[in-house]
Amino acid sequence: MENGNKLLIFSAPSGAGKSTIIQHLLKQFPNLEFSVSATSRNPRGEEKESVDYYFLTNEQFKSKAENGEFIEWEEVYAGTCYGTLHSEAQRIWDKGNTIVFDIDVVGGNNLKAIFGDKALSIFIQPPSLEELHKRLIGRATDTPEAIERRIAKAEQELQYKDKFDVIIVNDKLETALEQAAEIVGKFIK
Ligand code: ADP
Ligand code: 5GP
Repeated sequence: MENGNKLLIFSAPSGAGKSTIIQHLLKQFPNLEFSVSATSRNPRGEEKESVDYYFLTNEQFKSKAENGEFIEWEEVYAGTCYGTLHSEAQRIWDKGNTIVFDIDVVGGNNLKAIFGDKALSIFIQPPSLEELHKRLIGRATDTPEAIERRIAKAEQELQYKDKFDVIIVNDKLETALEQAAEIVGKFIK
């Protein structure tokens, strides 16, 4: 297969702008395809089944984990699991596309360790925790409690940034988008 089963791994604290950057890249590069993760949380805002996530009950998630159906999975927030199904990766590679992952820092590192040079891991860094807080409030998709949880977690997540192949600071969006496009363009060529 031309693309050689490549993977692009994006990780960042929630609110850093990962989805915004990924959506832009998916429009720009037709051979990129988003890996739809499975999660045990409920849909948020406009999220759609099988588009944003495969939404599973806790029982369904656990059963798939026990059956070895995940490449990796994590309890990213207490009581809420997220994971990548083997079937999802295969679905994308069968079309010759490069997989794009939006995944937490631990899962991102696990995937990089599994796939080595076939994977490029990119950390999206917010300019500051204050700005992250503002973006989460501005996004208006989380309760105040969920925002506090995400901010508390962000401090831990930032400590992982040096484990990634590339760090993009998402301060000015246009600059971050240009950097991301350049890095991805080189990797998939
Ligand atoms: P993530 O996917 O990392 O959780 P999002 O892409 O949902 O983050 O971005 C969080 C919020 O911040 C969104 O409302 C988005 O429009 C906004 N945003 C993203 N990048 C920037 C930026 N560089 N400057 C200001 N706001 C941004
Ligand atoms: P959210 O609830 O905001 O959609 O996502 C919460 C976190 O779960 C994010 O950090 C996101 O990157 C991560 N995540 C999404 N899918 C996966 C996955 O398949 N595996 C792992 N380990 N984390 C994931």
